[in-house]
Amino acid sequence: MIDIDVVRSDFPVLQKKVYGKPLIYFDNGATTQKPLCVLDEVRKVYTDYNGNVHRGVHAMSDQTSEAYEGAREKVRSFINAAGREEVVFTSGTTGSINAIAYSFGERYINQGDEIIVSEMEHHANIVPWQILCQRKGSVLKVIPFNDRGDLNLEEYLKLLSPKTRIVAVTQVSNALGTIVPLKEIIEPAHAMGIPVLVDGAQGVQHGFADVQSLDCDFYVFSGHKIYGPTGIGVMYGKEKWLSGLPPYQGGGDMVDRVTFEKTTYNELPFKFEAGTMNYAGAIGLGRALDYVKELGRDEISDREKTLLAYATERLSSIQGLRIFGQSDRKICTISFLLDNIHQYDTGMILDKLGIAVRTGTHCAQPVMEHYGIEGTVRASLCFYNTIGEIDALGTGIEKVISMFS
Ligand code: PMP
Repeated sequence: MIDIDVVRSDFPVLQKKVYGKPLIYFDNGATTQKPLCVLDEVRKVYTDYNGNVHRGVHAMSDQTSEAYEGAREKVRSFINAAGREEVVFTSGTTGSINAIAYSFGERYINQGDEIIVSEMEHHANIVPWQILCQRKGSVLKVIPFNDRGDLNLEEYLKLLSPKTRIVAVTQVSNALGTIVPLKEIIEPAHAMGIPVLVDGAQGVQHGFADVQSLDCDFYVFSGHKIYGPTGIGVMYGKEKWLSGLPPYQGGGDMVDRVTFEKTTYNELPFKFEAGTMNYAGAIGLGRALDYVKELGRDEISDREKTLLAYATERLSSIQGLRIFGQSDRKICTISFLLDNIHQYDTGMILDKLGIAVRTGTHCAQPVMEHYGIEGTVRASLCFYNTIGEIDALGTGIEKVISMFS
């Protein structure tokens, strides 16, 4: 069982006041807060042993390299990758998807080939593929979702064709909270020899990240959404894919031997890590993953289920509030609108009450288009939120409604 008082004291910023009110942080889908142990770990890099990785023979470079490679092992173990060479550090989910779209695209995509994404993707899992389609003359196909917020899997099966080269889907919708049934996406694709990329940006922090059990070919996520630092992320790829893909950036460390006639590349994963990496971020991410493991992924998941059930019931009881995303399988994110009240007005008034929510399209404009709306208010919770905070959100929303009535 998570001891909520202890856990909250791990996160200094949660003690903060906003406009004189205790902060209620419900924007975890955008970024999560950081526990002290992560901040301490990053500070320790710079105060104790900072040296550039894989470069020097001196003690500090060795120590930093060891910590950096230790972080890679922590990621490997956390997502259950078969080998460390399958774990590439990047700047984040967006960086990872762009890297794969570029590199996979160079090797495997030609004119008329098809790429499948879903209607509920974040822009980060749409636009890199569109750029690729423009470059190569390939075609983007889209799996639709229904009004409850579930993907239409029958339509998906119809989209799969001998022309499909890759399927790229989210694990969890950031705008609706839907947990996508990945097995039902991956198995039929694999039956046709098609690889699947999973955008784990909203999945990894809620306990779903076992790449071998999912059998996905690529899995990407951002450190800052799982209690780690910003500017660091992960691009997992099965060795059989990564080894055949060309590098997407050239520079120091990703090379084996450089001459003006011919350059050969370093082995995996370094082939994809050009230049000085964000090693302090990677080491901080490793500590964040330890923290999540120490709390217990099942405990986190249980607590978040309780918060979701309570929040759904509390918000559903408010007249004139409509929830977008009613799937039976959801994370603790609730997107909603109030009748005749603009989402920005709702968000701004809640902010004045100390409640941080996100408003707008959540970088998922096709989702908004699906419902014919401009945006929603999104309360995205995580384990350090409390029932009391949900009650305060409910009361805050009722206040917004009464101000506009
Ligand atoms: N995919 C999803 C599902 C997301 O929620 C986000 C962040 N909101 C991203 C991709 C992009 O993540 P980042 O900005 O950390 O690269």
